[in-house]
Amino acid sequence: MTSTSISDLGTILGVWAHPDDEAYLSGGLMALAADAGSRVVCVTATRGELGGDPGRRSAELHACLGLLGVSEHRWLGYADGGCARIPPSGAIARLCAIIEEVRPDTVVSFGPDGNTGHPDHRAVGRWVEAAVSWAAPGTRLLQSAVTDDWASRWAGVNTRFDVFEPGYPVRVAASALSLHLVLDGAPLERKVRALGTQASQTAGLIAAMGPAEYAGWVADEAFVERRPVLPGAWHPVCSRCWWDVTSARWQCAGSAMAGPVTRTGSGG
Ligand SMILES: [Zn+2]
Repeated sequence: MTSTSISDLGTILGVWAHPDDEAYLSGGLMALAADAGSRVVCVTATRGELGGDPGRRSAELHACLGLLGVSEHRWLGYADGGCARIPPSGAIARLCAIIEEVRPDTVVSFGPDGNTGHPDHRAVGRWVEAAVSWAAPGTRLLQSAVTDDWASRWAGVNTRFDVFEPGYPVRVAASALSLHLVLDGAPLERKVRALGTQASQTAGLIAAMGPAEYAGWVADEAFVERRPVLPGAWHPVCSRCWWDVTSARWQCAGSAMAGPVTRTGSGG
């Protein structure tokens, strides 16, 4: 693991699009944090009904979270495949309310690339970034990332199983990561068992790849830290910054240099 230790992450709020996203991308992180005594809350935007019966997928998700030691879960109840088509303001407001209630120290979600490029993932990543910026600027925001090494090592598997949308993944260098878990031993076994409970999504893959290769494929959990910055002075968003919705600009009460400034980056 790089630079950040699990207990330093404090209360963790994960926000994902479909049942199983949370387990693939952060199952090890959630389990280690729960074991360390941290509060972990998981939010899922849709019930994944395009990938199977939504009742079954809900039950599978809860079994999976139970194995990972996560007892708090919320649904947003949006339509699978439809996240990019709904007005974002309602979803962002829902997430702001959850952030204000949970008061996470760390939020984990998709980045602008949505990891796999799935439009629902990308939409959720945009909502989360906006909600964190609005409701709790300064909260650590970790976005799931695909490393160069992993993408190269598993290129054959990823192509064979059509994992990524055309043009994806967006690869990042391992040196750019803020948090990189490479699971092995009991934590990896636990993650694989947890993923196995979401059999509607994983049974075919596990059978096709074999358990050992599947375990290697899901061992990495990589995150970059999203730090919205203000151009010019490169002032990271601090606890006294706020997103002024009227002018659509960042403002900061704590710094003489920060007049009205335009936010960089692709989020919002
Ligand atoms: Zn997904």
